[in-house]
Amino acid sequence: MAYILLNKPKKKISIPKIEAGRIYNSPIYKGLRLRKLAENPLCERCEAKDITRAAIETHHRIPFMLGTSHNARLKLAFDFYNLESLCIECHHLEHFNN
Ligand SMILES: [Zn+2]
Ligand SMILES: [Zn+2]
Repeated sequence: MAYILLNKPKKKISIPKIEAGRIYNSPIYKGLRLRKLAENPLCERCEAKDITRAAIETHHRIPFMLGTSHNARLKLAFDFYNLESLCIECHHLEHFNN
C-alpha cells in the first residue's frame, strides 16, 4: 500500500500556464493591448483581403511561450511589434484551424 502511495503520480502543475495567465492579466499587457487596438483598430488579416472589420483581439505573431526563458517570454509578450490586431474570426482561425 505504502508503495502505491509513494508512486502516486504528482499532480502536474503547469508553470507556463500560470505564467501566461500572469502575463495576460498584467497591467503592462493590458495597456499594450489597448495601445495596439487604438493604433490598428481594424483586423489586419481582413484588411489584407479588403474587408473592413473591427479588431477585437490582439494576437502574438510569435507565440511568447516559445521563449526559452522567463525573460525571453516576457520580451515576446510585451513587444508591441509582435502584436497583431485581429477580429475574433481571424483569431479563432489562427489558433484552431491549423
Ligand atoms: Zn479578421
Ligand atoms: Zn492569438
